[in-house]
Amino acid sequence: VFQLSVPLNFLGSVYRELRQSLLDMETLFNLQKVNLAVKDKPDAKPLLLTAGEIKFENVTFGYRPERPILRNISLTIPAGKKVAIVGPSGCGKSTILRLLFRSYDVQSGRILVDGQDIRDITQESLRKAIGVVPQDTPLFNNTIEHNIQYGDISASPERVREAAKRAHIHETIERFPDGYQTMVGERGMMISGGEKQRLAVSRLILKDPPLLFFDEATSALDTHTEQALMSHINSIIKEKARTSVFIAHRLRTICDCDTIIVLREGEVTESGTHEQLIDRAGVYSELWSAQETLFAGNGEPGDETRKE
Ligand code: ATP
Repeated sequence: VFQLSVPLNFLGSVYRELRQSLLDMETLFNLQKVNLAVKDKPDAKPLLLTAGEIKFENVTFGYRPERPILRNISLTIPAGKKVAIVGPSGCGKSTILRLLFRSYDVQSGRILVDGQDIRDITQESLRKAIGVVPQDTPLFNNTIEHNIQYGDISASPERVREAAKRAHIHETIERFPDGYQTMVGERGMMISGGEKQRLAVSRLILKDPPLLFFDEATSALDTHTEQALMSHINSIIKEKARTSVFIAHRLRTICDCDTIIVLREGEVTESGTHEQLIDRAGVYSELWSAQETLFAGNGEPGDETRKE
């Protein structure tokens, strides 16, 4: 028995590693287009996360060098604070998250996490520290339970259920034909965009990373479910003082952030609290008024920030 258990344990850990890399790949694909040109330096060190402060210093980046998407951007996302990035479609919001995840390297300037240039640390340690709820969460061809468990493959079924409850999806799952054992993914049951978003939040709750990124994470939910989920996300962030970055078109979901950064054509045009930006009577305040007018008329606020 003893002789057998060693290789089995070994296989188990290989399996866990493999599943974890699948999870990382998933996040990578979500942030779109894996860039194999991004490599660890030979002397790369693991990230030493202390408070969780993120800084962009004069960052310029374009997917093609001749077409800059971000132009000399400097911004600070203070440790334990909630920051929102807003702006018209295509202005580079998701690009900021992709750079932070180091799916690409900056052309000039630098990105620091707790004072460490992310090009000097291992990609593995950086990505372990980050949890993303992306615009669209791909599902694995597996059960709902496994799909949530990808957040932390060592999680017990009880912890999976606890996370699902906190992400307001537990009761929906219980109503699925085989509950947590229902198969999803391409060959399984089709689930809605809002259900996918809540599965992604369940995964994030299980992974419990220090840096949290939400890219239009609640856009497919109705206002009531969105508010309930946001209030839970907010309580996690507050309780654990997690540094978090939100990208959202619906300004109502982010107006309570500690700082709101307004991007336009690859530059920061305004930043401050909701009140400060309303007083400034600039781009944010205009967007806010437009969305509120729509909201009052029972429209779907948020879409008017899109160009198309
Ligand atoms: P949205 O609100 O619509 O999600 P966004 O502000 O998040 O938009 P990004 O996704 O950051 O915008 O894209 C910024 C610009 O970069 C867009 O013009 C987009 O077409 C372009 N872009 C994004 N990804 C790539 C890529 N892999 N290769 C080339 N161009 C890209």
